Amino acid sequence: MIYPEVNLDEWIERHKLLVVNYHCPKCQNDFPTNVPVLLKDSAGLQSKIHECGRDFSKVVLVPRTGSAKRLWKQIFGENEGER
Ligand SMILES: [Zn+2]
Repeated sequence: MIYPEVNLDEWIERHKLLVVNYHCPKCQNDFPTNVPVLLKDSAGLQSKIHECGRDFSKVVLVPRTGSAKRLWKQIFGENEGER
């Protein structure tokens, strides 16, 4: 999982994402999914990984669009992006 340094609003607009609220069942706190994440075939948002650990976070993913693939290439170079 990659954490691209992008503007949250642009990320949401580009991938048609929605920030949702994650209610952690362990600590009973709420965490919005407002951290941009990038996978090879999808892009999304993740809630903050807090003291409860990675198992208690939420990730929302959507398939990557053409613009996301271009960003992927910027991060890993032309060859990596097409693999
Ligand atoms: Zn928690």
